Amino acid sequence: DPERENLTWELFGRAERELAAQIVASGWMPDLIIAIARGGLIPAGALGYAIGIKAMGAMNVEFYTGVGQTLEEPVILPPLMDASELPGKKVLVVDDVADSGKTLRMVMELLAHEGLDLGGQTVHVEARSAVIYRKPRSVFTPDYCWRETDKWINFPWSVLPVITPESLAQGRA
Ligand code: 5GP
Repeated sequence: DPERENLTWELFGRAERELAAQIVASGWMPDLIIAIARGGLIPAGALGYAIGIKAMGAMNVEFYTGVGQTLEEPVILPPLMDASELPGKKVLVVDDVADSGKTLRMVMELLAHEGLDLGGQTVHVEARSAVIYRKPRSVFTPDYCWRETDKWINFPWSVLPVITPESLAQGRA
């Protein structure tokens, strides 16, 4: 399908090695990697191995559409990660794609400017961001990016249907 950017598992492997090389070549090494769940979890894990970082965390971010609201803004959902280890750390935030860019913009603003509220104490960290893809319309420019595309991207982890007891019973794995 020429209307889609089709990231295969094979190509994903190459993308992650090339992103890792970008990060190492920049001379900046994170102490900790934070994945934006769920799309950033698999890219973040692969990057962690590729640059030799074991300290991993995750943040659940989703778009929330309030009743009667026309604005769509991303929000952080539970479970919240334990942020007590964050102060003074260099953090790499990883997501699959910066499309509108609002998810990454919000997380990066939170970490760098607004700060995380740790029981009355507000913590700021030095953060950079990495994505596999960036769309031209993104309001946020990630520090590290593999490719730019304006197409809808098929990621290998979400392109197939969810496996359910019903689909199994019908012989579709
Ligand atoms: P944002 O618009 O905040 O940059 O992206 C929010 C999320 O929407 C992304 O992390 C990703 O999970 C999903 N998303 C955005 N664009 C695409 C796309 O082209 N393909 C897929 N599979 N998901 C996308």
